[in-house]
Amino acid sequence: MKKFTQHLQMKLQRIKKAMGDFDLAAPGTIRTIYMKCGKATCSCQKNKKDRHGPYNLWDRKVNGRPTSKMISQNQFKQMSQWIEQRKRLEKLVAQAIVISQQIALEEFET
Ligand SMILES: [Zn+2]
Repeated sequence: MKKFTQHLQMKLQRIKKAMGDFDLAAPGTIRTIYMKCGKATCSCQKNKKDRHGPYNLWDRKVNGRPTSKMISQNQFKQMSQWIEQRKRLEKLVAQAIVISQQIALEEFET
């Protein structure tokens, strides 16, 4: 193994370690909304501050289609952590792929 490759292997090792153990890695995003109701006489129809809510939504794609699911405040907090976890892992995987490519090119160049 080449010296440069060894250095890259160590970098890859660090990335693998950084991935570590994790609970869930959830797709999508979350948001909080306030909505108008169906009643024509309700003050929410005129005043933005009278809109109902907050409602927490988890947005993601299911079979390529944008999908929203209403979730509780506790689920919102939990989902926020799972989404952060997924973002963290995606960054690490992207780095691992770049380094893997560098290692493969080094290894094949003999
Ligand atoms: Zn209303």
